[in-house]
Amino acid sequence: MTESVTVVVGTQWGDEGKGKLVDLLSNGADVCMRFQGGGNAGHTVVNAYGEFKLHLIPCGIFNSDCTCIMGTGTVIDPPALLEELDGLAKQGVSGANLFISDRAHVVMPYHKLLDQVEDVARGAYRVDTTGRGIGPAYTDKVARIGIRIHDLLSEDVLRAKMDIILHHHNSVLTTIYGQQPFDKEQLVVDSLVWGKKLKTRIIDTVPLIRSALKTGKRMLLEGQLSAMKDIDWGSYPFVTSSSPTAAGAAVGAGIPPYRINRIIGVAKAYSSQVGTGPMPTELKHAQGDALREVGAEFGATTGRPRRVGWFDAVVTRYVAEINGCTAIALTKLDVLDTFSEIPVCIAYKYKGELIEDLPNPVIHEQCEPVYEVLPGWQTSTRSAQSLQDLPYNARAYIERLTELVQAPIHSIGVGPHRSQTLITHC
Ligand code: GDP
Repeated sequence: MTESVTVVVGTQWGDEGKGKLVDLLSNGADVCMRFQGGGNAGHTVVNAYGEFKLHLIPCGIFNSDCTCIMGTGTVIDPPALLEELDGLAKQGVSGANLFISDRAHVVMPYHKLLDQVEDVARGAYRVDTTGRGIGPAYTDKVARIGIRIHDLLSEDVLRAKMDIILHHHNSVLTTIYGQQPFDKEQLVVDSLVWGKKLKTRIIDTVPLIRSALKTGKRMLLEGQLSAMKDIDWGSYPFVTSSSPTAAGAAVGAGIPPYRINRIIGVAKAYSSQVGTGPMPTELKHAQGDALREVGAEFGATTGRPRRVGWFDAVVTRYVAEINGCTAIALTKLDVLDTFSEIPVCIAYKYKGELIEDLPNPVIHEQCEPVYEVLPGWQTSTRSAQSLQDLPYNARAYIERLTELVQAPIHSIGVGPHRSQTLITHC
């Protein structure tokens, strides 16, 4: 990795295999940082230590020389973080290199309950959230009543803030949703315990980032989900509450935008989505089941079956453009090894009109995919060591995707292991 600041983002709906790429790139990184989101996403990493499902901790954690940071733009559930650290320690990963921005926000127990009851109340517009409290934690942040990680170190601050917060949330929970109120004393006691356990990891990231930039340290910024789930650019309202884009990385990590010099968009060789929202190439019934089984498309955080479909070039081109992707890392090519024909969505049909740009979500919902059908290769790609080892039709498939997405290829994934990645050095 020669570029000093690299951002890795998803280019579909999340679950593209970003974890594996970040794990791979973090080998040469000095700093690895999550810049948005919380424990609502799961990144699967398979490496020399074993198989891991990371929800909050940056995937660079396996490189003990890499300083890992949960950035200011993240929201953190302290018990979940402590549990994840415990799990890593049991598998021989120390986690001593993990730090948390003092400005990051805390996901509190009331956020989780609000997340669940509010999503049900959304009816047809339900987001199908993971119920981990991420949305309500961001809502409190924007409403300026959130608890920040640094607050966990001060009983006075906690008490003062909790009075204001519980006055509001307990009224909503009891009056509108018929739930039990939260007890302030218990929340304060629990928060102080979390603060004590995390204290040595809570830092002001500004001097650290300043020094890293000044000395040309290699930094890796790890996005979660994708711009299709971005609060501004995604399929609103079926989106997350933060900005999983390269621009969001600058804000959430506290890095000047012009210092970011590589943006790798991760795209699966087909599509998947968890939760609700438009997905024109979705395959239903037996066809979908087949692709889901071969691709092992079940959520890393919830185990929920993911919706699956063919590659949607309109979506990935849009996301690559929004992010300014300098290259695309194509993953899970091997999942398509057995198919004799592989359709790729190159445009949409809406009310008889051809659409090549991603439309408003309300229209997107009603679009029909226009497919170009490419021949499959029906050979295993799993042991390929380089691009040249891939069958002709697999290379033709990759080439066509790069033309459609209008970005060069950084790497090709042909299996879940870190080593099953063919780097093209783009
Ligand atoms: P993320 O959230 O973007 O990190 O993606 P997930 O971890 O949720 O999902 C990616 C899944 O695909 C994980 O189970 C990975 O181990 C697996 N994976 C990643 N790259 C490849 C690949 O090239 N081939 C195969 N077969 N699996 C892969």
